[in-house]
Amino acid sequence: MSQIFLDRSKLSPAYVPDVLPHRDRQMKLLHLLFQDSLRHTNEAQLRATQLIGGVGTGKTCTMTRFGEEMNREADKRGINLTHIYVNSKLEGTKKILLYRNMLDKVSRDIATRSLSSEEMLHQMMRYLIDEDRFLLITVDEIEYFYKRSDEPLIYDLTRLNEIFPGEPTRVIGTVFISRDTSFHSHLDPSELSSLGRSYIEFERYDSNQIRDILSLRTDEAFQRGAVDEEILGFISDFVSKEPLNGDIRIALDVLLYSGIYADAEGYKTIRPEHVRHVLRQTHPDITTEELFKISENGRLVLLALIRALETSRTAYVSLRDIREFYNLVCEEQNSHPVSDIEEELQDLIDRGIVRMKSLTQFGIVGVTAKDLDRFLTGIRQRISNEVSG
Ligand code: ADP
Ligand code: MG
Repeated sequence: MSQIFLDRSKLSPAYVPDVLPHRDRQMKLLHLLFQDSLRHTNEAQLRATQLIGGVGTGKTCTMTRFGEEMNREADKRGINLTHIYVNSKLEGTKKILLYRNMLDKVSRDIATRSLSSEEMLHQMMRYLIDEDRFLLITVDEIEYFYKRSDEPLIYDLTRLNEIFPGEPTRVIGTVFISRDTSFHSHLDPSELSSLGRSYIEFERYDSNQIRDILSLRTDEAFQRGAVDEEILGFISDFVSKEPLNGDIRIALDVLLYSGIYADAEGYKTIRPEHVRHVLRQTHPDITTEELFKISENGRLVLLALIRALETSRTAYVSLRDIREFYNLVCEEQNSHPVSDIEEELQDLIDRGIVRMKSLTQFGIVGVTAKDLDRFLTGIRQRISNEVSG
């Protein structure tokens, strides 16, 4: 049994937790949009909307959760509603493929073979009327569809209820999910007008939001005490910045792999070195070449930072700690300490080697403290050899 994990599947991006922190606004907007649809199915109109936001902003899982909530609500009212989810990246960039998958999810009883895409939609609507069923349809990664196809998918799906005019609405809504609105330029005016231009925005998660999300997942996935706040802060800080821009999936991944690594190394808790190890493997942003470009004094400052990190066993140390170790390192290397190391630190920050979280918190990302120490000692020795030889 793992010393670290309770259930690591809870860190999988495929897992949708019950509570989605920081998505209340989006969830509420969805509820507002559809609140009348189930109350008066006879008068309901199809509602179309778009969920727009970057990768890993929780669009898909928010819609999944919302679909479930609508289902429960419908059950209470004795309405037979199904949320149908199709993803154009996974299920096809031709209408005919996408519709076939859609119909399969509505019911295995609808024959689709050798039907045209129009005939399929016709069959589906007939079936819904005959069986007294209702649908909410989501098409995810719609931008991908329009990159490869010029078929008017949105036009079709937003007008499903018009296939049998006079019948009450069977499809209460169509939700299109996309990274951005650039697919609008592929739509003809009538398609764009049936879609509408307004959308629900999914903003990037910032560092604090990522930490909240990770924190809830940690409770489900890890043994108590295996992950402390500092580790979560470290990962959130890293993922919230360029180039990852708050992609929550990467944050979950880094947490998962840090746990696996710590477990394999026989630890009961994740340490900052474990996270650094994972980050270095997945996001190496410090190269030998980079290190050679640092000034001699800069290297001493870096070495001091590393020693301070190793000694404190934390992800960040203060300027005062660095200064203390700097004096020590200079003594060991027979170098003259300079009085002002801030300038060197700033240079290391500009080079992307040192990360400054606040004035009292400095750390490195991209390399484990242990490795870099050895690395720098090696460089240091080579330099000394050159000087003396
Ligand atoms: P997107 O579709 O915007 O790329 P996803 O919805 O696929 O993002 O999010 C990836 C995973 O991250 C989700 O399955 C879920 O596990 C997790 N996640 C995203 N947002 C949240 C949130 N607000 N709270 C908890 N988990 C979240
Ligand atoms: Mg998605």
